Amino acid sequence: MDQISYSQTINLENNESVIMPIVFIPFDNNKDKCYYCKESYSVTPLFQQKYCRYCLFLYNKYTTNINLDIFISTKDTQCNRHRLRSLDFCTQNIQEWCDSCSEVLYFKQVITNCRFDGFNDIHGEQKFIESGKYYNIEFKLCENCYQISSGLIESTMTEKTIPIIYLPWWDANNQCIFCDQTLKFNSDHQKWCSNCIIIYIGCRYCLTTNIIFGITNQSQCKKCDRILNVIYKAIKEVFDNKQYATFNINAYNQLSHFMNIIDENSNQLEI
Ligand SMILES: [Zn+2]
Ligand SMILES: [Zn+2]
Ligand SMILES: [Zn+2]
Ligand SMILES: [Zn+2]
Ligand SMILES: [Zn+2]
Repeated sequence: MDQISYSQTINLENNESVIMPIVFIPFDNNKDKCYYCKESYSVTPLFQQKYCRYCLFLYNKYTTNINLDIFISTKDTQCNRHRLRSLDFCTQNIQEWCDSCSEVLYFKQVITNCRFDGFNDIHGEQKFIESGKYYNIEFKLCENCYQISSGLIESTMTEKTIPIIYLPWWDANNQCIFCDQTLKFNSDHQKWCSNCIIIYIGCRYCLTTNIIFGITNQSQCKKCDRILNVIYKAIKEVFDNKQYATFNINAYNQLSHFMNIIDENSNQLEI
């Protein structure tokens, strides 16, 4: 756990309102062990998203400000820690989490397979049968709650303007959404593509992801305005060896192409 979240956890008893970072979801969905507690991740039956049950339990226990779009089902209809729950039980209220029988069906804010030219896949549906339960879930993100936006920021390092995309979800993919290259991870909420020099940085309080088309030492979460510090040393070394001009035009092309795809698909987003 990083220093901030550690001190927050320690000060829990003193605080009246506690906002905890969501640490139980990896930034790299290919990882098998929890970044924090090293327990094995569980996998959601829908969309194969990974999460740590232990860290989820802690989050649930201590946070008073729940900011999570989650669907919870039950694995055990005989569990008697609460009123009996049938197999089609499903709740979005994390307070109803039962440590013995609950499992996460899926997290709405977590995307594990986002592809640049396959943007439609995010809204695909998944038919799924498990122990007699039949799901037909369409993964659609509400247009009002999940709006993609973009902007330009001035790099604090190069004093050049760089484009940025604000994804309203947690991008847990380990491949670059533009060139498919495997990303390098420099923290539990930062990764980058050494081919495109694109930085992906996430806010663990809101589960949002900023995609930065250049190098800078900080970015800001669109939702909570928290400053996200970029670990840039390794990135800068690669960046300095690339022709900035070539790279920048390339980034702009990618960005406008991406925004066009969003526009084309925006009428498919439904509430
Ligand atoms: Zn954990
Ligand atoms: Zn239970
Ligand atoms: Zn909505
Ligand atoms: Zn790339
Ligand atoms: Zn945030």
